[in-house]
Amino acid sequence: MNNRYDVVIAGAGPAGGQCARDLAARGYDVVVLETESEDEFPRQSNKSTAGTFPSMMASFGIPDDVVMQYTDSVVLESPTNHYVNEQPGAVLEFADFKRFLVEDSRADGAEYRFDARVTAPIMENGEIVGVTYNGDEEVYGEIIIDATGPAAPLAKKLGVVDLKRKNHAIGIEYEFEGIDIDRPGFADLTDAMMLRLDHNIAPGGYSWIFHTGGDTAKVGLCYIQNSSHDQYARDDFSIDDYLSYWVETDPRFRNATRLEGKQHRGSAHIQLPETMHTDRFMAIGDTVPTIDPLWGEGIKKCMQSGRAAAATVDSCLKHGNLEPTAENLEVYDTLWHRDVAPNQRKRLLMTQLLYLAPNERYDQFMADLRRLDNDTLANANRGNIPAIARLFEPSDIPMLAKFAKERLSLDSFL
Ligand SMILES: Cc1cc2nc3c(=O)[nH]c(=O)nc-3n(C[C@H](O)[C@H](O)[C@H](O)COP(=O)(O)OP(=O)(O)OC[C@H]3O[C@@H](n4cnc5c(N)ncnc54)[C@H](O)[C@@H]3O)c2cc1C
Repeated sequence: MNNRYDVVIAGAGPAGGQCARDLAARGYDVVVLETESEDEFPRQSNKSTAGTFPSMMASFGIPDDVVMQYTDSVVLESPTNHYVNEQPGAVLEFADFKRFLVEDSRADGAEYRFDARVTAPIMENGEIVGVTYNGDEEVYGEIIIDATGPAAPLAKKLGVVDLKRKNHAIGIEYEFEGIDIDRPGFADLTDAMMLRLDHNIAPGGYSWIFHTGGDTAKVGLCYIQNSSHDQYARDDFSIDDYLSYWVETDPRFRNATRLEGKQHRGSAHIQLPETMHTDRFMAIGDTVPTIDPLWGEGIKKCMQSGRAAAATVDSCLKHGNLEPTAENLEVYDTLWHRDVAPNQRKRLLMTQLLYLAPNERYDQFMADLRRLDNDTLANANRGNIPAIARLFEPSDIPMLAKFAKERLSLDSFL
């Protein structure tokens, strides 16, 4: 077996798979090491609701056959109110999508080793030159990339990332049939991705129903175990308990039954990255982490970071044949901050503020969204401060004071 490559990637998720696609298409020798077995791939890592948008599908050439359902709108819901935004999207079958990335990069020459659990960097003269996997197996590369999501075995050992426990967001989801998708008294969720702000169901987070056709949908929730979660959480309730509670109490699920084997769970860290590379090494995707903190859009962001890393490899190994020193890989961090997640710091602050608000404020928030024009909302979503300010009212002052106090005392996400 070849044991020396231009690039070794740990992890065949959206970030690693896309990075391998771009590198193989540019003619590099690339190998991807994936901990799961090929027969079952992806099983444990089949974690995502996989709601996405046309910009992702078009820019990465994703075929229609990995789409479960095209959607026409994004609905935001609060305990007693909702807001509908007409916006085309797609709910992917995440497992098919991951397998597509593998097959497509293989067609261009990328190699995959399944059943290959990466454990540690191989170091020479203080630089990473390869990785060990499955205990004592080794593979070497000019550049090594950690794309293992929150596991981050290489990035952690190299001291490149410091994923903090307090910033750990967890999520769970089941797929159901028999859902009343257009129930009177609620928004029509036909062909919609719905996100619900309601601390009774997802304390310090949000829950969702993504329509997957007919009377079926993906139903889940996620939260960060932060101060907001502590304030609203029930004693002894696990994340599974919250989902069961929602399904038992919301009339839309009265006749719903869970689809066997269709359960997904996973996690990501919601925090601002510091550096993402060192000599001969880059961390991509949720190893960084790259997921958008506000609504958890991770697939596109993580693929973009994979693409930025591939461009960085190219700039070193092809154009100038530059040594992939930390200095020469710095362009990756620049691309990440400029193109992948340009407003991450502001979006982290918006996230913290959003999940601090009480349920009554969420009801009012839906009315505010209807009141404001689309340009203001788009600017607010991009982190534009004057646009965000238009979402606040005098009665928000106590909440803003609490936010300021928490920022001063905890520096929570950063
Ligand atoms: C419940 C839930 C719902 C979500 N919904 C959405 C959504 O609707 N839309 C959206 O855009 N995003 C969503 N996300 C986020 C999105 O799924 C992630 O941001 C994205 O999958 C991260 O991609 P990644 O490639 O960085 O890491 P991952 O997807 O975590 O992939 C990492 C890969 O590395 C492998 N691996 C792990 N450890 C090792 C090791 N030691 N050695 C070798 N391989 C290893 C894993 O098996 C896996 O294949 C959701 C996430 C969760 C948890």
